[in-house]
Amino acid sequence: MKIMVAIKRVVDYAVKIRVKSDKSGVETSNVKMSMNPFCEIGLEEALRIKESGLASEVIAVSVGPSQCVDTLRTGLAMGADRAIHVEASATLYPLSVAKLLKALVDVEKPGLLILGKQAIDDDCNQTGQMVAGLLNWPQGTFASKVVLDKEKEVATVEREVDGGLETLCLDLPAVITTDLRLNQPRYATLPNIMKAKSKVIKKFTPQELNVDIKSDLEVVQVTEPPKRKAGVIVSSVDELIDQLKNEAHVI
Ligand code: AMP
Repeated sequence: MKIMVAIKRVVDYAVKIRVKSDKSGVETSNVKMSMNPFCEIGLEEALRIKESGLASEVIAVSVGPSQCVDTLRTGLAMGADRAIHVEASATLYPLSVAKLLKALVDVEKPGLLILGKQAIDDDCNQTGQMVAGLLNWPQGTFASKVVLDKEKEVATVEREVDGGLETLCLDLPAVITTDLRLNQPRYATLPNIMKAKSKVIKKFTPQELNVDIKSDLEVVQVTEPPKRKAGVIVSSVDELIDQLKNEAHVI
């Protein structure tokens, strides 16, 4: 069984985000970019499943500009067997990515498609659900534990929900999206970074996959959150109560 993992190149989680002066989005030039953390978790899970003998191949997939190849190389260095890059320079929304992933699934026929629960740049949390809908596959979102039964061809997925833990049993093939507590992703070792250089990255364009990435969604503007006002140091409890009543109006 093959496992396909969708990995997105995003602004590194440690970078302080700056909004572009024309409010069209966030600044990405000269900014450190990395693999979306939830996608790292997805890739780690796929590698663990393969290492336990339940999968034959892990394929990392990324959609976006040419620099996505760097992110895919990181995925190959972590242990993915090969990678696919769908090169698209236009702004991509989840439905377009979901359509492209579906087209790749039709080509590769994996038994499992793993995605992050959300990308930390757009916080959409939509792509996994949309691709499951397009494929008409069962989905286990926000997975905090995954157990595969190859004989019965099912995946048992635990999800942390408000009231506790929900356990789902999915017939394979299925879509799984990963939550933070699923695992701790590995670091790529130097020998694996060297090995990754010779692994194959296949390229497609959306046209070659017969997918129209034109979106009927438009981001109108992106703005920074309002700056927090400076705090006030009060000299007594009475003054604090007065401020809370008459300034902050919270009591
Ligand atoms: P989102 O729905 O945008 O929050 O993204 C959820 C997940 O979908 C990500 O963690 C990735 O696994 C996948 N995904 C979204 N956009 C891309 C992309 N451009 N390339 C590869 N995977 C993506």
